[in-house]
Amino acid sequence: VVTREEIREYLGPIYDIERLMSKIVYKTANPRDLLAFRNSLKMIPAIKTALLDIKDDKKIADIYDKLDTLSDIYEIIDRSIVEEPPLTIKESGIIKDGFDKDIDHFREAGTNGKSWLAKMEDEEKEKTGIKNLRIKYSNVFGYSFEVTNSFKDKVPDYFIRKQTLTNCERYTTTELKNLEDTILNAQDKLNNLEYEMFCKIRDSIALEIDRIQTTAKAIALLDTFASLAYVAEKNRYVKPTINDKGVINIKDGRHPVVEKMLESSDMFISNDTYLDNKKQCISIITGPNMAGKSTYMRQAALIVLMAQIGSYVPASKADICIVDRIFTRVGASDDLGSGQSTFMVEMNEVANILRNATPDSLLILDEIGRGTSTFDGLSIARSVLEFMSSKIKSKTLFSTHYHEISNNELEHVKNFNIAVKKNGDDIVFLRKIVNGSSDDSYGIEVAKLAGVHDEIISR
Ligand code: ATP
Repeated sequence: VVTREEIREYLGPIYDIERLMSKIVYKTANPRDLLAFRNSLKMIPAIKTALLDIKDDKKIADIYDKLDTLSDIYEIIDRSIVEEPPLTIKESGIIKDGFDKDIDHFREAGTNGKSWLAKMEDEEKEKTGIKNLRIKYSNVFGYSFEVTNSFKDKVPDYFIRKQTLTNCERYTTTELKNLEDTILNAQDKLNNLEYEMFCKIRDSIALEIDRIQTTAKAIALLDTFASLAYVAEKNRYVKPTINDKGVINIKDGRHPVVEKMLESSDMFISNDTYLDNKKQCISIITGPNMAGKSTYMRQAALIVLMAQIGSYVPASKADICIVDRIFTRVGASDDLGSGQSTFMVEMNEVANILRNATPDSLLILDEIGRGTSTFDGLSIARSVLEFMSSKIKSKTLFSTHYHEISNNELEHVKNFNIAVKKNGDDIVFLRKIVNGSSDDSYGIEVAKLAGVHDEIISR
């Protein structure tokens, strides 16, 4: 447990290395991306050390071996890129002092330039007697001496007029012009040099793509293991067993998301699920609105999915077979933009499922046929059910409000309902799945609960 928490802590600051790497390869990574990359690499040695404790596990040993600390790449970024670089790569100030001689040289020219300007300003002030003489900079006109109108008569011959403003005039001199060239060129030169150096560093990292991708994948795998282990422990999941008999047998299954949404997780009522390839291939689930049918069916699908990706599952015990696919037909959605109505979408999905499902698939069919008239819907639901029980025989959870359907002698099909207790006019949801079908959907009671007008309810 200590090792896992430690590893999770080290994984925390790691960015999406694969994504950063593709920016580096496609030359869109900026200096900040390189720093994020460096900060990610920084954690790898600590992770490797932590893994030493649990290296007798084969998968962990494999991750350990694939993790390259990439210290050479860490080093080069750490030595070259300043801690708070500008956002764009065309600005200077990306490369650290001392990394490159030429860059240092032009950077110095830039800094010295300022003191050269100050010196020239002082000298000219002295020479001309213009007390408030200033050297100003503008993007358009560059550097110039600014003389306010009150000192106009002191302007010497060698001042060349550049610009007239309301309160002052601006001049240059040959000397100032030369200095300006040196300073501005130094800045340009510096920008170019830094940009080139940055690209060179970025390209040199891009060349290491194979080593970096291998490490990134190992990190991703470790992250998956650590996260699944963390939620497994935090939420009391259990390790499922896997069978090849086509049986799904879940004891006290829970919905991993719904249980987290409730005020306290013990408010979630767990339920068993059993499906096999023989007598109990299809479960029809009836029960009132709001009873928990959708939740129950989805939790079964999620548990099977989680087991199959290698995760622990929210149940007290689970024996799961491998499924080739999970098909779901849930909820009402439409696709008006592409010319499909809600019911058309529903039927398309049903057709697709019936064409592609196999005896090894798991099907979640939530209220098939509810989007059309009662008798059409009922007929569709009933025939789909018959087709599945005689032809496809996938493991199926099939919920419906057509109680007529549960009156059948179909093979492979069992009936369940989610229990409620009637209390006078009101109903209490027990959330427990029990054998047999229910004969009422309590739709009117649920409408009343939802606050529909009394007048309408009684009518
Ligand atoms: P409808 O027929 O009206 O679509 P439904 O029977 O499919 O309803 P669900 O949508 O599954 O009902 O559940 C309604 C609500 O009941 C859920 O949003 C959830 O908050 C709660 N609920 C469902 N199952 C459980 C459970 N096992 N324990 C606690 N609460 C639950």
